[in-house]
Amino acid sequence: MKIAELFKEKKVVFSFEVFPPKKTSSIDTIYQTLDGLSDLKPDFISVTYGAGGSNASVITADIASIIKNKYGIEPMAHLTCVNSSKEDVEKALGVLNKHGIENILALRGDINPELPPQTDFKYASELVSFIKEQGYDFNISGACYPEAHPETRDKIQDIRNLKNKVDMGVDHLVSQLFFDNNDFYSFMERAWIAGINVPIEAGIMPVVNKAQIERMASLCGASLPVKFVKMMQKFEDSPEAMRDAGIAYAVDQIVDLVSNGVRGIHLYTMNNPVIAKRICDSISGLRGYYQK
Ligand code: FAD
Repeated sequence: MKIAELFKEKKVVFSFEVFPPKKTSSIDTIYQTLDGLSDLKPDFISVTYGAGGSNASVITADIASIIKNKYGIEPMAHLTCVNSSKEDVEKALGVLNKHGIENILALRGDINPELPPQTDFKYASELVSFIKEQGYDFNISGACYPEAHPETRDKIQDIRNLKNKVDMGVDHLVSQLFFDNNDFYSFMERAWIAGINVPIEAGIMPVVNKAQIERMASLCGASLPVKFVKMMQKFEDSPEAMRDAGIAYAVDQIVDLVSNGVRGIHLYTMNNPVIAKRICDSISGLRGYYQK
């Protein structure tokens, strides 16, 4: 099923993100992750695309196919373009189509300083147009940034660029993680003023250890509210306390977002079904409420 259809059927969509196993691990380790996550009945699961790897599109397509055919859950395959030629993307689309994958998250990808970008695609919007031109019937999603993309930090220009990407054929947006819901509400307001009318999912990452937050904040540039920093400082020496506080923080964010009418929650699971289960258990009544 296409994700745009899912949004027509459901009042609130709950979805997960997983990443392919590291090169040093067997692809089979993804089954342990998916066994646990599938029990939680997400509306769809997205699979990331490894930066720069020549085989990345095949691995992502294989895992998306397992999600669809073994677990009976709708997958969304991420696809980046900055290190790809048009020919590479054509091949990747063919593989996804062959596996029956209907949903693609079309991304530019991060610029790797050690890997000069190819020249066929500069922005995700160009990938979106290219996918449309190939004549497949994919549902296309795009990424968005509540605090603006780190390369611009000009919120107005960033929203204009996002509007352009949506106009090229994006059906649904998934946000970068954030820790202050007010950043997301301001972004939603800008998106609405810019005339962006596709459903927008809020990306939530439960932060359950100190190393994770240091890595994430430096990678995606999410700002850390005082309440969050205090929590981290208080519990940094106790893994159990940090884990429980991180889960509670994510649950609090989700309840507030859904209460404020947000149409979708995309949980960055970090391939950890135990944490995802604790979050899902905490909001099971809320999910039930929106399925009535
Ligand atoms: P774009 O939409 O192209 O935007 C990139 C920058 O260019 C922005 O600053 C934008 O404002 C600007 N811009 C856009 N159009 C124009 C224009 N016409 N003129 C001037 N400036 C313009 N990375 C991976 O490698 N693999 C993944 O699986 C992956 N999954 C992700 C999932 C989500 C939900 C998110 C939010 C990010 C993900 N990323 C992933 C990271 C993503 O690739 C990076 O954030 C990347 O830097 C930007 O990708 P984009 O698709 O948002 O780019």
